[in-house]
Amino acid sequence: MKDYRVLLFYKYVAIPDAEAFAAEHLQYCKDLGIKGRILIASEGINGTLSGTVEQTERYMADMHSHPLFEDLFFKVDDSDGHAFKKLFVRHKKELVTLRYDQKLDPNTDGGGRLSPVEFQQYLQRDDVIVLDGRSGYEYDLGHFRNAIRPDLDSFREFPGWLRDNMEQHKDKTILTYCTGGIRCEMLTAVMRKEGFEDVYQLDGGIVTYGKDPVTQGRLFDGSCYVFDERISVPINHTDENVVVGTCYHCGQPSENYINCADDTCHRQHLCCDACQAEYEGYCSEECRQHDSASPAAAR
Ligand SMILES: [Zn+2]
Ligand SMILES: [Zn+2]
Repeated sequence: MKDYRVLLFYKYVAIPDAEAFAAEHLQYCKDLGIKGRILIASEGINGTLSGTVEQTERYMADMHSHPLFEDLFFKVDDSDGHAFKKLFVRHKKELVTLRYDQKLDPNTDGGGRLSPVEFQQYLQRDDVIVLDGRSGYEYDLGHFRNAIRPDLDSFREFPGWLRDNMEQHKDKTILTYCTGGIRCEMLTAVMRKEGFEDVYQLDGGIVTYGKDPVTQGRLFDGSCYVFDERISVPINHTDENVVVGTCYHCGQPSENYINCADDTCHRQHLCCDACQAEYEGYCSEECRQHDSASPAAAR
């Protein structure tokens, strides 16, 4: 057993005076000594944080004793240390930002929920469409077998992308999934408003699927991108797991995400060890030249 843990959680629930709650919660988290990123809106809470086993136990117990969060579900990962450098607790207008003109309530508008075991059964049918609910760079590190890759850098662009790319699948059974489940709450709500008839979401997301003792993560290829210092976590615990990520430079298998060493670029890209050394962490020759010509390099 490791000394630290990473918690992932969200809940759509009306929070009265969310702004004041966020301020109190920030102080509480500071006092507790945890790190991470927690968003609080009048529509609910969405967070991921790291701390010692004791700190995270305390956090879960305190949240469960709050009337709004008695049933808050935590996904728990063991960790060697903190997965975050800092603590952010922010009040936001919405938990998930979407460019969409209709008001959505995920608790009533969203698609049907499938447990990991049900999801795995659906995946093996030949009449279903599987749609990744994340961005392209997340898909590239790992995804469910045969899933559609949305060519998006930002979740808010999904409604427009659906209209341009998914029209022909409107009468099909569609399975969606994302990291922890919150994005599919909104994505499936949009899809149902847009006339997709039979839409499902993976309850608890990829992370929960990977922990399920029955699925063992089978049919997920590669690793799951996560928004903390770990960058990726393993999902498929069977001997069928494969590396699907490929080096941006040479195309060899790689699961190593780095940011371009040029501060004006910072493009996140998969890069094998050999190419990281050869290109010195730059994504392109232009970035290397740009950096060597900049005043910072001349210091
Ligand atoms: Zn390479
Ligand atoms: Zn670059």
